[in-house]
Amino acid sequence: MHEGAIAESIVDILKQVKEENKLNRIVKVRLKIGKMSGVMVDALLFALEALRTEEDVVESTEFEVTETDVKARCNLCNRVYEYTDISDIVMLCEQCGMPLDIIEGKEMKIIDVEGE
Ligand SMILES: [Zn+2]
Repeated sequence: MHEGAIAESIVDILKQVKEENKLNRIVKVRLKIGKMSGVMVDALLFALEALRTEEDVVESTEFEVTETDVKARCNLCNRVYEYTDISDIVMLCEQCGMPLDIIEGKEMKIIDVEGE
């Protein structure tokens, strides 16, 4: 899928962070990836791993990924549903039968960068 492109944009962001903060290296990066973001965590880590040889900035960086559960809310009764397994997702409210809005689980972001 598009994990290779995502890995490259993460590396670009890290280059910026490294330069702006005058760091010698990026030690650790924490990523938050929603279970409905469409990003395959294994594929992303593999792509980042592959970039190590080309990009000095991630040569010795540890990547930690947290997968976030999916949360959906009913617009009518405001009931919030939480799914740890995306195959369990039902897009209709059990109470009112209204379509649910995904409020969490589609995001993909860098939450923390540790450097030295
Ligand atoms: Zn409802």
